[in-house]
Amino acid sequence: MQIGRVLSLIAIAMAVLAAWLVPAPALASSDRQTSSAPSCHAASDLNTSLADMMKSRDWTCADSDRRASDPVAWLRFDRAAWIGEERPRYFYTRNARHSAITLAAIDTGGAVRMRAYREDDGRTFAAGPVFALALPEITEQTKTLMVRIERPHSIPLLTEARLTNNLDNAEWSQLDMMLIALVVGMLVLPLLFDISFFVVLRERFIMIHAAMVVSMMIYVLFASGLISAFVTLPVAVLAIVAPLVWALGMGLSLFFFTAFVERDAQSRVMRRLTLAAAWWTLIVPSFFALQLHATQAFDDRGYFLAFLPAMAIIPASLAEAIYRGSQAARFLAVAWLPILLAAFERFARGVGLYTGPSTLDQLIYMAAAFEVIVISVAIAYRFLNLRRERDAALMEAETHERLSERDPLTGLMNRRAVEDRFDSLRAQGFDTFALIDLDRFKQINDRFGHQVGDQTLISCANAIRGGEDRDEVAVRLGGEEFVVLLRGENTLARAEKLRQAIPLRIAREVEGLDRVVTASMGLIEIPHDASAMMDFAQLYARADKLLYEAKATGRNRTTYERLKLFNTPPAPRPRAATGKAA
Ligand code: GH3
Ligand code: MG
Ligand code: MG
Repeated sequence: MQIGRVLSLIAIAMAVLAAWLVPAPALASSDRQTSSAPSCHAASDLNTSLADMMKSRDWTCADSDRRASDPVAWLRFDRAAWIGEERPRYFYTRNARHSAITLAAIDTGGAVRMRAYREDDGRTFAAGPVFALALPEITEQTKTLMVRIERPHSIPLLTEARLTNNLDNAEWSQLDMMLIALVVGMLVLPLLFDISFFVVLRERFIMIHAAMVVSMMIYVLFASGLISAFVTLPVAVLAIVAPLVWALGMGLSLFFFTAFVERDAQSRVMRRLTLAAAWWTLIVPSFFALQLHATQAFDDRGYFLAFLPAMAIIPASLAEAIYRGSQAARFLAVAWLPILLAAFERFARGVGLYTGPSTLDQLIYMAAAFEVIVISVAIAYRFLNLRRERDAALMEAETHERLSERDPLTGLMNRRAVEDRFDSLRAQGFDTFALIDLDRFKQINDRFGHQVGDQTLISCANAIRGGEDRDEVAVRLGGEEFVVLLRGENTLARAEKLRQAIPLRIAREVEGLDRVVTASMGLIEIPHDASAMMDFAQLYARADKLLYEAKATGRNRTTYERLKLFNTPPAPRPRAATGKAA
């Protein structure tokens, strides 16, 4: 299948790009030996002082057991960490909310130099999701640098903390940033796709997808720090916007799922669960993303754990829909697999299950770009299908409409159709109304059976059916009653000719009849300016009276009336014209 080939091409291209991208930070970090990680960490309440901590034995000097839930987190960089390097000048770490950071350089002689910062003082970077603070002076005598972080909201704020003498080391490489810019650029295309699809196909899922693409773009811009290349934003804004739009994107993805898959791809229970998870994901993780002071003790884990319903529902929904034969769900499975894996990695790192460099975040950006592109292909595919379905439905409706306007026995227009079009036909110049009824038709049925009766009706219809010139419109009103509307020259004579053609046609076409079947006619000529004054029903009533007279005066004849303007009630001067059924 062609779509399959397109998808595998995209997958290969993205894999090549990822293979190029991911080793880059690893290589780069081997050049970056000038950044030092903390030697030990600890946690305390707000009242514990620097002096208390200097004496404390509650330090953990292993890369484990970090928590962002205590009011204060402590990091200790021992001299051994930077020995052999130039003296460090900066502290940097991942963008995350906190209320204050104090840096204290402690000399062997007991001298302490301190610098205290508020959240707003952090200097953000265009390259990488980090901020930096200048250290107090580090001298030959400095044995330890202690960091006191008040109200930390996130574990990576602790795990990704480093000292450096050159801020270039804090930044992601130029190559990384170029690739991130490329990802953002790639997201523009699906957005344009969505807009053009929406113009043609006003489906809700296209707008949801556009919103997903926009939130992905904002996420990549803010989470990578690239936004700082355009505007200088405080740490708090970067720290809030990225997780917030990630939550919005996840919630939207769930809404997208139910809107996008085929109608019968989800059971009602699963649909409800998906929508519930969607709302939950829009609200709960977004709340934790705000990293409010009051929720500091648990919003780090709270944020990640709040995604669990979505993380459970997405695979379950996909599995169910694929089991039910959904093509759309198969696309989504391909689109979402990388981002689910990357999200699990980020989740594990975010809750502190393991530590890793912030450059691993780039996996998510790649996966996000992959997702958006695959879904765009899926939308294009679904777009073509929906268009095809829609065209088929339209054609069917047209056929149905046409059928519902036809009398099934004779193929003539039926009463409903002529009533609907009567004004338009009048406007097109049809000014003669002929009501034709077969004479003693009931006897044909009684004597020769219904089938012969039907055949007779068909022959009658054939006799009065309009020619190619389209100046005659024949209608079967019901039973053995017909109307012919005429326009042009000599309409009265032409109507009479049609009536007289009926017995001939029936005699020729219906076998086994032992008699001539004639017809009677009530004929009305409508003057042009009387057009607006009478509708179909009124004309029919008048013609019926004329027809009754024709029947009463012996059948096989025409009674004619020319309507007069402002002639209410009209005083018809019926004139009978007897035709010989030759
Ligand atoms: P008149 O000359 O006064 O018009 O007498 P008539 O027998 O033609 O009039 P009447 O209205 O009494 O009978 C019409 C008959 O047409 C009655 C009905 O059984 C028959 N009929 C109506 N629709 C159909 C049809 O679709 N097929 C057949 N075979 N007969 C039909
Ligand atoms: Mg009749
Ligand atoms: Mg009748």
